[in-house]
Formats: sequence, structure tokens, C-alpha cells
Amino acid sequence: MTLASWRGPDLLDVPFARFSTIGVGGPVSWFGRAESIEDVAGAHAWCAERGVELLVIGGGSNLIVADEGFSGLVLQMAIGGLKFSMRDGDTLMRAGAGESWDGAVAAAVQRGLSGLECLSGIPGRVGGTPLQNVGAYGQEVADTIDQVVCFDRATAATVTLSNAECAFAYRTSRFKQEDAGRFIVCEVSFRLRAGAPTITYPDVLRVFAREMVGTPAVRDVRSVVLEIRQRKGMVLDPEDHDTRSVGSFFMNPIVSADAHARLAAAAREADAPGFPVAGGVKVPAAWLIERAGFTKGVTDGRVGLSTKHPLAIVNRNGATAREIVEFAVRIKRKVSEQFGVWLRPEPVMVGFGADPSVAFLQKASE
Ligand SMILES: Cc1cc2nc3c(=O)[nH]c(=O)nc-3n(C[C@H](O)[C@H](O)[C@H](O)COP(=O)(O)OP(=O)(O)OC[C@H]3O[C@@H](n4cnc5c(N)ncnc54)[C@H](O)[C@@H]3O)c2cc1C
Repeated sequence: MTLASWRGPDLLDVPFARFSTIGVGGPVSWFGRAESIEDVAGAHAWCAERGVELLVIGGGSNLIVADEGFSGLVLQMAIGGLKFSMRDGDTLMRAGAGESWDGAVAAAVQRGLSGLECLSGIPGRVGGTPLQNVGAYGQEVADTIDQVVCFDRATAATVTLSNAECAFAYRTSRFKQEDAGRFIVCEVSFRLRAGAPTITYPDVLRVFAREMVGTPAVRDVRSVVLEIRQRKGMVLDPEDHDTRSVGSFFMNPIVSADAHARLAAAAREADAPGFPVAGGVKVPAAWLIERAGFTKGVTDGRVGLSTKHPLAIVNRNGATAREIVEFAVRIKRKVSEQFGVWLRPEPVMVGFGADPSVAFLQKASE
């Protein structure tokens, strides 16, 4: 592998807001792109030689960068390639980290392959999906990822990690936890199967029941998911201000059965929604947020909640990262006071240092 192939940064002193779907983030010192693993190795070496920090991004759809910016190199993954091959009766889709996620899903669906159809319409690039084990409508990438090819910054070598080695869990993985910043995802392989799609999610089931579609194909599931997501402002659309977000700002908390039983009383309702999972009951964060008084469309200066989805914090008009963070703090504080549940943010926060508001957002309990 030659390290000399990377051409160096393309831009200097550019606002991160330009690369972020929620439109916030101060100046970054250098911005460049990586179109191959050799570029990734070159950019890593470039940073090491200068003692410069490195932040790898895809579509910037799950990142909040501070208004103070990032005094390092932002490297956008632009490694392309989508290849299909057969293995033991399954189809392997190998996708470059810089491929559009929804483009990869569309290509699989077009071939009648199931496994990714419920993840249609999620913004960002392929390389970002293992980070938080992207999921929606009853599927997550951990269900189909076969292996992930990474550049390991600890050893400056390419490694291939199996699904088990990625330590996937609900909206997380080793890439977001203990090994945050260590691995640069260059290629992801998915094991897909020709056949019936996954339809477990009530919203999706309801549409097929209403339209009396007995045996939907993967392409039918994709169109229904896209339709539902568009209605909820969860497909990027420059014309729709509700999509100027990072998607769901908070993860659905998992609480004990006892804590779940107390939620209904705290909300003065007969019942509280919840789904049994390993370790307790998963409660929709949207339900808690609305019951704490933050309803769809509520605004607070230049920030607010989407008019279509209470989980999406939206940059209404020129908001700063600080305004987004403080609004999220108010929501978290109110939910914890009313329900004793500590919501955790889904996006990755960069450049905030030991900021007390961000530390509060990351806290899992009192
Ligand atoms: C409207 C909207 C709807 C959304 N809906 C969903 C949803 O339904 N389900 C869901 O799970 N998410 C959802 N998201 C969140 C987001 O789209 C996903 O998490 C997506 O996978 C992020 O990819 P990205 O390329 O934009 O990553 P970025 O935002 O660019 O980066 C996110 C994190 O991953 C790291 N990273 C990115 N690429 C790499 C790489 N190649 N190697 C190493 N690290 C990398 C970054 O450093 C950062 O820490 C939504 C976001 C929006 C704006």
C-alpha cells in the first residue's frame, strides 16, 4: 500500500455546517476526501505527521459539531463501489463506505434481495451505518452485515472484522463505544437473500392490511417505508424544513419492568407503550417527550421539534449548535423530572470538550 496517493486537503477553514444535515458546526481547519483505502492511509499519515486530529464523516446526518468548530482534518469518505456475488446460496453485497446508503438499499431491492428494505430512505453513506447499527421499521444493519473492512488507526493496517467482532447492540457498536475513532470503515459486506421481506412493524403492516396486499415484495416494502418516512419528515428534502435535523435526537430508553409500570401513572394515562427486550422494556422516547409537554412543532427561538415527528430536533432558521444542545437539555431535564427516565442522545457530538450541557446529555442516570 502506498501512502503517497492522497492528494491532501481540498479546503481550508470551512464551516462544518456545510456538511451537516442539521446545518450547524463552526470552522474546520482542513477538509478533504478519501476515494480509496490508500487515501485513508495517506490522510491518517498526513495527520500523524502534523499532530492533527482526524474526524471521518459520511453524509453528516448523525453529527453535531460545536460552534467553535474542529481544529483538525475532516475526511469525507468517498470510496465507491457496489458489487454483488453469491456465497452458499446467499448474495453478498460489498459496498464502498462512500456509497449513498439509500442508493445501496435501492440496488439490493431492485435485485429482489431482502434484508435492507426497511432501512430505505435513511440519509448518509454506507460507512456510517455500522457505527450506530442503523435501524428502522424492524430491521437493523447488524441483521445482515457479514463483515466490515476498516483501516485500523492503532496499527495503520487494514483489518476485516466479522459481524460478531463489531459488538453491535441497539444503536451502537464498538465503533461508537470502546473503539471510537480507531477504525475507519472502508467497505461493508451485507449477506442478503432473495425472498420474502421483513414486515413486523405495525405502521408497515397496517398499510398492507388496508391495501389488502397479501404477499408484498421487497420493492413494495421499500415504497411503503419511503412513504411513511416522507410523511414523518424522515427523508432529506431541501424543501421540507422538518428534515433539517439529525433524525431522531434521542434513543428509545430501556427501563426495568417496575419503572415501566410507573410511567403510566406519571403520565396520568391508563397505559404506557413499551416493547419487551433483553434487559427490560423499550419505551418510545417520542411518547415520553410529548407527555413531558414537548409536542410536535413546538419552537424555542430558532430551534424546535419537527411538525411531523416529536423525536426530531430541527434547526428552524440559522440556529447554532449551542441552541440545539440547550434545547435538547431542556427536553432531557423535563423528561427525567417527570418520569425518572434519562434520555440519551443518538448523534455523535464533536468539539464540545468537557461542556457541562453535553456531559448532562450523555449521562445515563442521576
Ligand atoms: C432525516 C433523518 C432521518 C434519519 N433516520 C434514521 C433512522 O431511521 N435510523 C437510524 O439509525 N438513523 C437515522 N438517521 C441518522 C443517520 O442518518 C444515520 O446514523 C447514518 O447512518 C449516518 O451516516 P452518515 O454517513 O451521515 O454519518 P455521519 O453523520 O457523517 O457520521 C456519524 C458518525 O459516524 C462516524 N463515521 C461516519 N462514516 C464513517 C466511516 N466510514 N468510518 C468510521 N467512522 C465513520 C463519524 O465520525 C461520526 O462519529 C437519520 C438522520 C436524518 C437526518
